[in-house]
Amino acid sequence: MATGDQRAISKLRGSASEARARAGEDQRQRQAAPNILNPNEVSGNYDAGRMLMTTLGGEVRPITSDDLAMFRHNARVAGQRFQGGITSRQVIDMSLAGDRDRARRQITMAVASAARGVRGRSRQVSALEVRFITNAGPDSDVNRHHVTVEFTGYQTAIASGAESPKRAAARLRKQGVRFDCDCGRHRYWFRYIATIGRYNAGRPETGFPKIRNPKLNGVACKHVLRVMSEIEGGSAVQAFLTRAIEKGRQNEDGSGHIRQQQKEAERLAEKQAKRPRGGANTSGDRDFDRARRALRKQSRATTTKPKKTANGSKRMKALGASPGARDKLLAAARELGLSPEQAAAILKGK
Ligand SMILES: [Zn+2]
Repeated sequence: MATGDQRAISKLRGSASEARARAGEDQRQRQAAPNILNPNEVSGNYDAGRMLMTTLGGEVRPITSDDLAMFRHNARVAGQRFQGGITSRQVIDMSLAGDRDRARRQITMAVASAARGVRGRSRQVSALEVRFITNAGPDSDVNRHHVTVEFTGYQTAIASGAESPKRAAARLRKQGVRFDCDCGRHRYWFRYIATIGRYNAGRPETGFPKIRNPKLNGVACKHVLRVMSEIEGGSAVQAFLTRAIEKGRQNEDGSGHIRQQQKEAERLAEKQAKRPRGGANTSGDRDFDRARRALRKQSRATTTKPKKTANGSKRMKALGASPGARDKLLAAARELGLSPEQAAAILKGK
């Protein structure tokens, strides 16, 4: 594992041109791709003669007009989910369990390599772009991946001089982010969602993922997830953002560029790789455990009454109560202020 990490972090100085080369290759592949389903086709101008395929419903088959209606619906729902941007916490919370699991097990390091203020349409510096490097998973044909994160609260962090750079950095990492990764999972599954959710950094993707992800599930790949957990909990990211803010304030308008030293990057990668992983109840990774605890808390807070009733009914069914008796018991339990679970436990004689 350590060798993989060291390979990923070696030659930090060449990493920017490597990232640019991969982005260029991505662009060329995208332009040459023959089977893109364009937004105007999704909205109804689709020629069935194109015979584009989808996996909606489980098998590969030609797209129908019903599918297009479903795609439109899924895109609308996804767009609504992300109104108001996304934070690193939300990226972790809203991601698929499988992606989180792979991040925890396979991606052992995420190190910031460089940062710069990026200008928006108004030519003002509007965000801080931080480039991260992660190791690649075990089945990858590359040694590392490049994850770009833009922090949207940067302008405020520069302007609010009353706050120390350290405090401003602590605030910045809790605010909105946009992101991009050069891996296939991000490019083919998630980049479209990021584009309609308006949290994509880097090139937008307007082609609907009709084969890979027609239901538009998930948010982030394992590399992005590892990076987000470092943004949320890692002291190294905090220190790096503090430096970036100091530099941005020196230049007043937030412009400027900082780099991670090769030695420091190697030290951080080694430190991260030594963190324990695995275990039954804890992942051994405090950032992911914290994310998981937060998630549990959230799901407890948002569990609705009908859900509880359903659980209670199931238990009563298991106890052998008939549906009619069950409903009466549940109504009685509610009047007594008991939860269905408590009622089931009493019936069981607990
Ligand atoms: Zn990725």
